[in-house]
Amino acid sequence: MTREELYSGKAKTIYKTDNPEILIAEFRNSLTAFNGEKKGEMDKKGYYNAHISKKLFEMLESEGIRTHYIEMIFDIDMLIKKVEIIKIEVIVRNIAAGSITKKYPLKEGTIFKLPVIVFDFKSDEYGDPMLNDDIALALGLATREELTILRKLALRINELLLIYLDERGIILPDLKLEFGRKDGEILLADEISCDTCRFWDKKTGQSMDKDIFRFNKGDISKAYEKVARRIVPEIFE
Ligand code: 5GP
Repeated sequence: MTREELYSGKAKTIYKTDNPEILIAEFRNSLTAFNGEKKGEMDKKGYYNAHISKKLFEMLESEGIRTHYIEMIFDIDMLIKKVEIIKIEVIVRNIAAGSITKKYPLKEGTIFKLPVIVFDFKSDEYGDPMLNDDIALALGLATREELTILRKLALRINELLLIYLDERGIILPDLKLEFGRKDGEILLADEISCDTCRFWDKKTGQSMDKDIFRFNKGDISKAYEKVARRIVPEIFE
């Protein structure tokens, strides 16, 4: 299969394939935080995140959630359906952590009675500012109907992930989801991994995600491996 680069983001490079409807997402080892201000590299990060995403996409598909995932074709290469990415980061919060504790009087660790959904404008240029429905509509990012669907899908995905991860000793304080349009449908896109979720160890409460890199909290390699061992034990056999 020939490979022509379509787009290179902060953690993944997207390639065209011979089929215009299908792309390859290559999960790289690069780490960035704070809108690209902090940069790093972690051996095997791409491998772990790709396989964690694969497993979570498969689980969600089996529960009726449509995703862009097709199959893994190599260690770090995921075959995906080409979608038109909706420039909204859908963040679901179950427990207060990160930016919400800086912007509002909410202590880290506060458990929300109901999941809190926030829409951010996916824009490096503007630093991903928070949206409300009127701004999203004014920017033409999505229709009102799509915003309703995004909210509904995000809540269902969160619900399924909470159960799945809890069974593997992982708490999910929050996560970021991205969606895309394809043939009149909205598909879950991007990735679900240690880079896009907060994962806390159920026993110790310790971070097992990108916060370790963001805030120099310890050995990131060990933490990502720990998550991978719980979600995709088969890659260690
Ligand atoms: P926060 O708003 O606290 O920075 O992030 C909330 C959650 O969404 C965290 O799980 C974080 O990893 C994820 N998140 C929010 N914005 C981004 C982003 O631009 N890139 C990535 N990889 N994750 C994000």
